[in-house]
Amino acid sequence: MSLTVLDHPLAADLLTVLRDKNTAPPKFRQHAERLGYLLVAEAISDMPTDSVEIETPLEATIGTTLRRPIVAVAVLRAGLGLLPSVLTLVPDAAIGFAGVQRDEETAEPMEYYTKFPSLDGARALILEPMLATGGSLSWAVDKVKQNGAKDITAVCVVVAPEGAERMGADHPDVRIVAASLDRELNPSFYIAPGLGDMGDRLFGTL
Ligand code: URA
Repeated sequence: MSLTVLDHPLAADLLTVLRDKNTAPPKFRQHAERLGYLLVAEAISDMPTDSVEIETPLEATIGTTLRRPIVAVAVLRAGLGLLPSVLTLVPDAAIGFAGVQRDEETAEPMEYYTKFPSLDGARALILEPMLATGGSLSWAVDKVKQNGAKDITAVCVVVAPEGAERMGADHPDVRIVAASLDRELNPSFYIAPGLGDMGDRLFGTL
């Protein structure tokens, strides 16, 4: 497992707004989307490309295209907050969904829905904004691997050291891109300092 933490003043600025408990859902969604652009750009920064011959209005030149397709898998529900960023940056991306609920007592994942497009030859971006225990992300990665994914990057907003460690043990081949590696998980399995429950902050639920 490799962990890339964005080192960018705009990412830090956007994350600060997300962390602020006074940020209401409309502004929270907007800032999550904006931060998502930086995260997704980094998550595809190492993808292979091909050279193509094109003509500008002035002359023939060599351009660049992505060699392989991109599939984004949103881990419900917080992953939906990063989906607009993928769809704007990569409109051709195919989208999958991984529905998993955290058992409040054990914090382990309980599946309730999965739907994936073809993952053959694709870069799979798993959208899991809050990497807490790592249980949900590890489960989602298992699922996409069972469905043929071989090239997997997780896109996170905040990562807990415990989640990063678990992903290193369960899926050493997966790259994680995040805006912050936070201090710890608290006894209720929330990331600290964190930003609270990402799904609740996005959608205004309690
Ligand atoms: N999920 C969240 O939304 N927030 C956390 O802090 C941990 C898991």
